[in-house]
Amino acid sequence: MATQASPQYCYNSVKWIPVLFILAIVAWSYYAYVVQMCIFTVDNIPQKVIYLCIYHLLLVLFLWSYYCTMFRPAARPTSEFYLSKTEGEQIAAAQTIEERRVALLRFARQSNLPLLTRHFDGSIRYCFVCQCIKPDRAHHCSACEKCVLRYDHHCPWTNSCVSYGNYKSFILFLGWALLFCTYVSVTSLEYFIQFWQSTINAQKTGDSSAITARQFHLLFLFFVAVMFGISVSSLFFYHLFLTGKNRTTLESYRAPIFESGPEKDGFDLGWKRNYQEIFGINLLKAFIPIPTTRGDGIHYQVNSSLLSGTSQTANSPIPTFNRSNNQFNSVNNDNNYLLIDNLTTQEK
Ligand SMILES: [Zn+2]
Ligand SMILES: [Zn+2]
Repeated sequence: MATQASPQYCYNSVKWIPVLFILAIVAWSYYAYVVQMCIFTVDNIPQKVIYLCIYHLLLVLFLWSYYCTMFRPAARPTSEFYLSKTEGEQIAAAQTIEERRVALLRFARQSNLPLLTRHFDGSIRYCFVCQCIKPDRAHHCSACEKCVLRYDHHCPWTNSCVSYGNYKSFILFLGWALLFCTYVSVTSLEYFIQFWQSTINAQKTGDSSAITARQFHLLFLFFVAVMFGISVSSLFFYHLFLTGKNRTTLESYRAPIFESGPEKDGFDLGWKRNYQEIFGINLLKAFIPIPTTRGDGIHYQVNSSLLSGTSQTANSPIPTFNRSNNQFNSVNNDNNYLLIDNLTTQEK
């Protein structure tokens, strides 16, 4: 038992290394900024107090968002999406894709599941690992080994699934981290320049003892803040763009498939409503990592252009996907009538 658990334990421990790396950088930068810069280097008392107050405010917001992204549990599909053991075995034992499509449709109809999206072959989306019908925008995370709602991606820097439950705190984590890094780099710039002046003077006089350990701390503080700020900014603005379009990272690479076919902007409700869906409608609460994301992670509204072609439940006939033109055939074609006839026959 112990020998089986050890590899999993090691794997789980290794996954925390990027998080520990970030926390170590934050801990060192705290010492460099607060002790070496603000306490020992800044002479002006009011300036010292202002620097420390703003620094700690940004640090708290950044670490609070980081904590929520890491530890807020990923929302999973509700119980009605999971098949019983017998039903799961029926799906696994299906001899043909068509047989599986019919069985999945029957299970989805029995529970009246709200499903707008489909697998690329037109069938109900299903996870063989979790034995559940996937709600719209839910995906299986291979790192977490479970299906999560509104899956965006698995983030190694937070060791968590970025999904419905923590997407807001993830964007805030990036945003506050960017502001934090910008603030540190701007306020330490003056002391970074002083370091270079000391270096030039030391070279002229040949007195290397003029360069102190404190100056090295301030030099690296500036470099690390700029480096992390640049890295985080690209991710932050990319996720702001995705939020404005109401897309997940996965959907930006692989458009969700509706009954009318793949549609990248299928969930786009206009930028204002898209932002409200993630951050809520209260502007003050939007900037702190408390849960204000709207909805339940299962029911979604779609772009008005899709409304005429989609139903809100699984009770509509499923279209067949034509690979040659990358579109679904009409739900009224012969194949679908056959499928519905077969389904009706089997249900009897
Ligand atoms: Zn799964
Ligand atoms: Zn995950």
